[in-house]
Amino acid sequence: MLDALRRIVQAVNAADDLQSALDIMVQRIAQVMGVEVCTVYLKDFESGRLVMMANQGFNPKLVGVVSLAEDEGLVGVVARREEPLNLDNAEKHPSYFYLEGIGEELYHSFLGVPIIHQRRLQGVLVVQQKDSRRFDEDEEAFLVTMSAQLAGVIAHAKATGAIGGKNRQRDPSRSAEFTGIPGAPGIAMGTAVLVIPEADLYAVPSRPCEDIDTEVAFFFQCLQAVREDITAIKDRLQDKLAKEEQALFDVYLSMLDDRALGLEIEGRIREGEWAQGALAQVVISHIRTFESMEDAYLKERATDVKDLGRRVLAYLQTANTRDIEYPERTILVGEELTASIMAEVPREKLAGLVSVRGSSNSHVAILARAMGVPTIMGAVDLPFTQVEGAQLVLDGYNGIVHYNPAKELYARFEAIYAEQQELSKGLESLRNEPSETLDGRRLPLWVNTGLMADVARSIDHGAEGVGLYRTEIPFLLRERFPSEEEQRVIYREQLQAFSPLPVTMRTLDIGGDKSLPYFPIEEENPFLGWRGIRVTLDHPEIFLVQVRAMLKASVGMDNLRIMLPMISNVPELEEALELIYRAHDELVDEGVNAKLPPIGVMVEVPAAVYQAREMARRVDFLSVGSNDLTQYLLAVDRNNARVADLYHSLHPAVLRALNDVAQAAQAEGKPVGICGELAGDPGAAILLLAMGYDMLSMNASSLLKVKSVIRSQTLAGAKTLLEQALAQESSVDVKELVRDAMIAAGVDKMLQPAMGEKLRPKR
Ligand code: PEP
Ligand code: MG
Repeated sequence: MLDALRRIVQAVNAADDLQSALDIMVQRIAQVMGVEVCTVYLKDFESGRLVMMANQGFNPKLVGVVSLAEDEGLVGVVARREEPLNLDNAEKHPSYFYLEGIGEELYHSFLGVPIIHQRRLQGVLVVQQKDSRRFDEDEEAFLVTMSAQLAGVIAHAKATGAIGGKNRQRDPSRSAEFTGIPGAPGIAMGTAVLVIPEADLYAVPSRPCEDIDTEVAFFFQCLQAVREDITAIKDRLQDKLAKEEQALFDVYLSMLDDRALGLEIEGRIREGEWAQGALAQVVISHIRTFESMEDAYLKERATDVKDLGRRVLAYLQTANTRDIEYPERTILVGEELTASIMAEVPREKLAGLVSVRGSSNSHVAILARAMGVPTIMGAVDLPFTQVEGAQLVLDGYNGIVHYNPAKELYARFEAIYAEQQELSKGLESLRNEPSETLDGRRLPLWVNTGLMADVARSIDHGAEGVGLYRTEIPFLLRERFPSEEEQRVIYREQLQAFSPLPVTMRTLDIGGDKSLPYFPIEEENPFLGWRGIRVTLDHPEIFLVQVRAMLKASVGMDNLRIMLPMISNVPELEEALELIYRAHDELVDEGVNAKLPPIGVMVEVPAAVYQAREMARRVDFLSVGSNDLTQYLLAVDRNNARVADLYHSLHPAVLRALNDVAQAAQAEGKPVGICGELAGDPGAAILLLAMGYDMLSMNASSLLKVKSVIRSQTLAGAKTLLEQALAQESSVDVKELVRDAMIAAGVDKMLQPAMGEKLRPKR
């Protein structure tokens, strides 16, 4: 069964578009289950009706024509109840609904299962039989499993189909919405420019071809070039390979024959597709066919076809490099955007970024945040090869890409965009005002940095210090570990830029989703694995060099603070402290006049919350990493779009943990700050103020908003709000409470705009 299931899913996945996926699905399921009828009904979200989209066994003319309301028939029962319905005699069921002309009356047994993707009903999958028998448990379980697996494929195919389908031209009249992970906040509106990585068959967009004959001739010229390359390789290896091994090259050459692959690709070009697109489409379909074969030898051929395809593509691309004329408001879209690709677009033209892969910690997202370019990462469902030239609106606050939004939505975004611009201008006057409440309580606002690009913006916004300098960022941008001297220079630059203001340097925090290209860490469960302090304690040579570089860099300025990430127990902390003392002693012995800086611990693992006092006793300050703390407390991967709506930074459990940490630090008489994203949420800042946090550290772009909210509150009022917030049972209630307080204080404009309707219902 498992094998049958896998093969069906594989075949469906390989389909060109939604319709062929559904057709394959019903044919294969009917065949494997040995049933006479198999049907897929999909829900039309506009009309709410269940439309027969594919069928095996009934009159084919009915497909796309027959539809049912959700309260009609047995299919309606399955849809409404969202559970399987298994009947030996369908017509006896009170909800049986006879549809004229289908011939359904001949089929007595009925098994229907809902197709649900991310809590949303997509449709109903039904099998029917003439003889009157109840489908057995195995059959029911098979269909339920099938439907659960296919739901994701259908949802993805629908999303792709929403803007034209894999192999078809884009339909400019359609709108669609895709959810990813917020990479850098802000709204961007502009024209999509697709970044095509070289020789990547899967990233080639579909484009119309302007001059068919020239394109065909050019294609055959490139094909010939690859044939010549292969022949040359074959000749070179002649005396190194046995006869039968050499024969492999003849197979390649015959695949590359004008009349084999060549002919098929020519056909596509003559249908109007450009050569690169035609090549990619034909080659990918052959790769899929080979991959789905049982025979191991034939399966392997997929790799050969892919290789040959890439070779031809490389020729097509070298001759076809385009000189990109970037539109005024460019939104770069790519499968995996990199920091260097981003740098190719003139800054004044770069409005936003969308990357299908990657997380908020990818280089490109880090750089985008530093440069203030709204960015969406991990937009996995976006059929990126189809979007070139389309109008996109990015909601970088909520991680949503709006493709070709309808007029009203576009107008709404334009208004919000203008409001945001206005708001930032209005806030500029606050730059030199103190961050203090109406009743005089000061709450210093610091910034998070990682690149020199952050520095200017931070100083511009009146930051009072650096609460988190992520040292892994300069490490990420290199091809090997930077030497002690290289690190010293980089750190000194940061310290100098802010001197005499304090700069908190965090020791290397790699692992999780931050891996260095030259020090890959591959694990099944990286967020619970070798990351942060665990890596550096296992590699004291890396840790010591880094601490030495920090200490040396601070000579004469003494504004350094050192912070340790991912501490989950006391011995770990003590070991790290020992190493820092050792590095300091070494430098003193070497005659370097470096002071021992304040040392702090990040509280970002639940264990550290419960041992905050023991930790605080041993160090000079605590700083909460709310990004990881939220992820670990709620068991929600911070980079997984599928569970993004469960990542509630104002979850009552998170609030209580934050409150406990503040109290623990106060009990030990040590300052406590927070440097996760929560610190930059203007509403949350009121609660953190009330808890007694001594400093909030955030992205420079949030600083003035947070300041304006702090200045609108009294400490006494914030404390009352906190008391109420801590008594709430859900994050929605906490959010409402905070929102009301902001409205009452006239600062609700600082609330993060929530513009995009999420595709999924809220959890
Ligand atoms: C955090 O976890 O909140 C934090 C500030 O560290 P990072 O986001 O770099 O993991
Ligand atoms: Mg962290």
